[in-house]
Order: sequence, then structure tokens, then C-alpha cells
Amino acid sequence: MTEKENNQPRRFIAGAVCPRCGVMDRIVVSGDGVTRSCIDCGFSDERPGDTPAPLSTRVSRPAARRVETPADVVRLIDPNDKS
Ligand SMILES: [Zn+2]
Repeated sequence: MTEKENNQPRRFIAGAVCPRCGVMDRIVVSGDGVTRSCIDCGFSDERPGDTPAPLSTRVSRPAARRVETPADVVRLIDPNDKS
């Protein structure tokens, strides 16, 4: 089924999710970096032009998530304090 005469090593893209079957870490890139394919479902795709850069970290998380809450002064009331 697959081309056996491809002597170029295939590289796995860490963290890449197959767009067809949705399985992670099954995407390999051919030695020339043009074709990516899924070893799980046989999906293959061409990526002309750009080198496959795996998205190492998703930067979708907003950094400005923190909400500044003013520190309230908490007074501890001692019920035994009669003064
Ligand atoms: Zn797949």
C-alpha cells in the first residue's frame, strides 16, 4: 500500500493531530518535508512551500487573564477582647 522505495526518513511531528482521524502523534513528514501523512488512517497531505513547523505550544491562552483583586484588610475580631 505505501511506497516502499521511499528511502528518506520520515519524521514524526510531535503533538500533531491528524485532521482526518484526529489521532495525535501519528503524523509523519516525508524526508523532503513536503508531504505529511498519517500512519493511522492513511491520510496524506502536501504542504508546499513552508517547512513543517510543529506547534509546540498553543499560545491561545490569554495571558491577561489575571484579575487584580484589591487586598482587603481583614480584621480579626477577638471575641475575648473586651477592650
Ligand atoms: Zn489519521
